[in-house]
Amino acid sequence: MNNKDENTTIKDLKLIVKEFVQKRNWQIFHTPRNLAESISIESAELLEIFQWFSREDCSKIKHDLARRERMREELADVLIYSLSLSNIMGIDITETIRDKLTKNENRYPISKFRGISPKDHNV
Ligand SMILES: [Mg+2]
Repeated sequence: MNNKDENTTIKDLKLIVKEFVQKRNWQIFHTPRNLAESISIESAELLEIFQWFSREDCSKIKHDLARRERMREELADVLIYSLSLSNIMGIDITETIRDKLTKNENRYPISKFRGISPKDHNV
């Protein structure tokens, strides 16, 4: 079986996460607040990988296999808790991402923001 993005849907991942949680009866702990906190905690763990990195260090991280593996794991934690939150809230991830990207497109039109950070544009 090929467990790659190319042949896995978000629906598949939501079901895998849901089954993992249900088999352990962990849904009793998975309140929206607990999951939002967990996403934030795991995001901090992801960010910690870069602590004290210079811009140059960041560009080298792709070739640092140990850090890359840590990054994979923390990214997975963020995504797993995000999928769990979407499961219990009945949030459709595809629709939500498309809606948010449409808002972002309107907020940051290409004509004004191409190659320009929002922080440099007084947004
Ligand atoms: Mg973690």
